[in-house]
Amino acid sequence: MSLIVQKYGGTSVRDIERIRAVATRAAATRAAGNEVVVVVSAMSGETSRLLALAQELTPEPDQRECDVLASSGEQVTSALLAIALRSGGCPATSFQGHQIRIATDSAFGRARIKSIDTARIRAALADGQVVVVPGFQGVDPGGNVTTLGRGGSDTSAVALAAALEAAACEILTDVDGVYTSDPRICPRARKIDRISYDEMLELASLGTKVLQIRSVEFAKRYHVPIHVRSSFNDTQGTWVVEEESSMEDVEVSGVASDREAKVTVHRVPDQPGLAAAIFGPIADANISVDMIIQNVSADGMTDMTFTVPRSDLAQALRIVRATADTIGAGHVDATETVAKVSIVGLGMRSHAGVAARMFRTLADHRINIQMISTSEIKISIVIDDKFEELAVRALSDALVGTREEPA
Ligand code: ADP
Ligand code: ASP
Ligand code: MG
Repeated sequence: MSLIVQKYGGTSVRDIERIRAVATRAAATRAAGNEVVVVVSAMSGETSRLLALAQELTPEPDQRECDVLASSGEQVTSALLAIALRSGGCPATSFQGHQIRIATDSAFGRARIKSIDTARIRAALADGQVVVVPGFQGVDPGGNVTTLGRGGSDTSAVALAAALEAAACEILTDVDGVYTSDPRICPRARKIDRISYDEMLELASLGTKVLQIRSVEFAKRYHVPIHVRSSFNDTQGTWVVEEESSMEDVEVSGVASDREAKVTVHRVPDQPGLAAAIFGPIADANISVDMIIQNVSADGMTDMTFTVPRSDLAQALRIVRATADTIGAGHVDATETVAKVSIVGLGMRSHAGVAARMFRTLADHRINIQMISTSEIKISIVIDDKFEELAVRALSDALVGTREEPA
């Protein structure tokens, strides 16, 4: 008998008919002789709808109360699924995050899971129940409801799979698996059969929202195999697993993209400590700075350009403008119209020339590169966001899936 954690995303539980279909699938998995824990998202659109209501009241709503509000979406679907399972004759119980103690820190809206007490789940499983858990939520040391950030139900599911030492964590969604690029942007994208944790970590952090990055971090740390697949059919999806030797043969496994904002601080005195002065306060505000470029000029002044998530731009600008005044820098300007496009692949470790081909492909499409950053298995470029989809398609067609030619 295996223990399987199944997570159903928003479109998979979008209405009563879909919730019935999910109940049928979970009950069938149990009938096949498995122990089953089901993690559910809110109905699609519900989390955004709830958070928009708070925004209607005030532009900066209280974060603790926003978590109480947002977590209700998953509470609804978990109860409905347990009702559907029971009405179909399958014993089932739902447990909220605070009932089983999915313990998190107190960072409302972006909390991190610290531990999960599995005793109550194990007892219910031993009693033959399907256990239903709302994703996206936990409880902090003060007993407050917390949420894990958008897409956080993936992380709930993988963390539960790790804590329960499940055989696998199935992420059931509205696509057949992880594709070489977003199938909505790139109709020629192909499903990947197996991908390493490291490549999936890069793709998730670079904008591939099919898995929340923290879920992949958990999976890698606790060796949980993830199976991303469709909840609408039975075809095999994508296995996210430990690296296998053949995976390095493919130079570029996937292309990801994300919209960002770019900030430039002009005429920064070129002295030790000034980068720390600029980026320290931004980090203190929990804003993650992505790419940074420093252009040194001849007269002892430098320009500093960096990117941040668009949602953090207003706050980042406020902070940087205040710093610029105190360190005697020039003016600060920003644009919201940039996109970061990245290629990812284990094969980049051992193959030279991928960057050159990436830049050539962009040049052929007359796309200007504003910033570049590389690491062992990825190359990212920042471009004008009106070229985002064109760049994703062009790079997919030119680079993805090419294999090393035998010598
Ligand atoms: P869920 O609601 O099930 O959590 P998400 O919307 O979070 O689903 O993730 C699935 C979506 O991710 C797909 O509909 C797809 O458009 C998008 N996506 C982006 N990049 C990729 C990719 N490389 N492979 C598969 N899906 C991707
Ligand atoms: N409902 C939450 C969201 O929309 C969490 C999730 O679906 O994973 O972000
Ligand atoms: Mg999701």
